[in-house]
Amino acid sequence: MKTKEMRDRATEFAMSCDCDSGPRMTDACSRCREIARMLAELRQAVGLATTLKPDMEIDVLHPLEMMQQVVAYVAAKDAEIARLMVEREKK
Ligand SMILES: [Zn+2]
Repeated sequence: MKTKEMRDRATEFAMSCDCDSGPRMTDACSRCREIARMLAELRQAVGLATTLKPDMEIDVLHPLEMMQQVVAYVAAKDAEIARLMVEREKK
């Protein structure tokens, strides 16, 4: 479902390019191919970061929201570690 939505968006994007390459990325202009390559790399980067949050729900259409969740999760863990270290020093 979500992968299909993403593919539809990619198709829509490719068709809006001046190269008019249509849905087949193999026919796309070098600009479209470069953008597709960059998107794939960014998706991988986001995917990699989500591994920091074990209960992360993957929502490929909202990468920024996913990263905000990851940052909030890691910040909370950091604060918890800092709190535990202070507690340990008190003992
Ligand atoms: Zn193009």
